[in-house]
Amino acid sequence: MEITSLADLLDVQDLDLQIDRLLERRQSLPELEAYKQAHQHEQELNAEMETAAAELKTLELDFDKSEGELQILELKLHEHETRLYAGGMSARETEHMRLEVQGLKAQREALEERVLVMLEQVDPARSTVTDLRSRLDALGAEKAALESAIKAEWKQIDAELARKEERKREALIPVPADLVEMYEKLRHMKEGVAIGRFDHGVCGGCHMALSPTEQAEALSADIPRCVHCRRILVA
Ligand SMILES: [Zn+2]
Repeated sequence: MEITSLADLLDVQDLDLQIDRLLERRQSLPELEAYKQAHQHEQELNAEMETAAAELKTLELDFDKSEGELQILELKLHEHETRLYAGGMSARETEHMRLEVQGLKAQREALEERVLVMLEQVDPARSTVTDLRSRLDALGAEKAALESAIKAEWKQIDAELARKEERKREALIPVPADLVEMYEKLRHMKEGVAIGRFDHGVCGGCHMALSPTEQAEALSADIPRCVHCRRILVA
């Protein structure tokens, strides 16, 4: 095996490790975690909003209905009172009308009280919806800002990745295919480090020493491998 091929492979590995770090950084940007949390929070708020909006709608419908009833009552009362003022009715009719007016006034009082109670419920329900809407707006803006930050960082990382990939392709040209295959397999099994420098009798991959006999045996092989970790050695 050509020593230069092994040295080239060491360059390839260096690039591969840089690529690994870039990919790792791409997937672990703090903005990604923040985005995930903002998105989750948004979903929770949307669910709250759905409930709050439905509650407000019911209250508003009830309120409108009661106000409509109050208007009809007022009209009726006005009619009766006008007839009373106009006179011309028998004593029995007048008394009947007077009692009717009394009853209507009592109804009006009760209805007005109900409307007041409803108003007290509608106001907080309305401010709950307003509050939720502004929190959702703020979250939307936060998500948009995070999105553009992530996009910008990914663009930079991807450009750097493309440069490293290109350099890796170039570095791989002089390396024989079977050696590349062994390298890829080992890299997969050995946490990204398939090849190590053999320095002062120590494997650069597992940092264990080889005895002089082991050294002689390893280095005489077509592709020198560490007797301890089986990584490829570059002397
Ligand atoms: Zn080793």
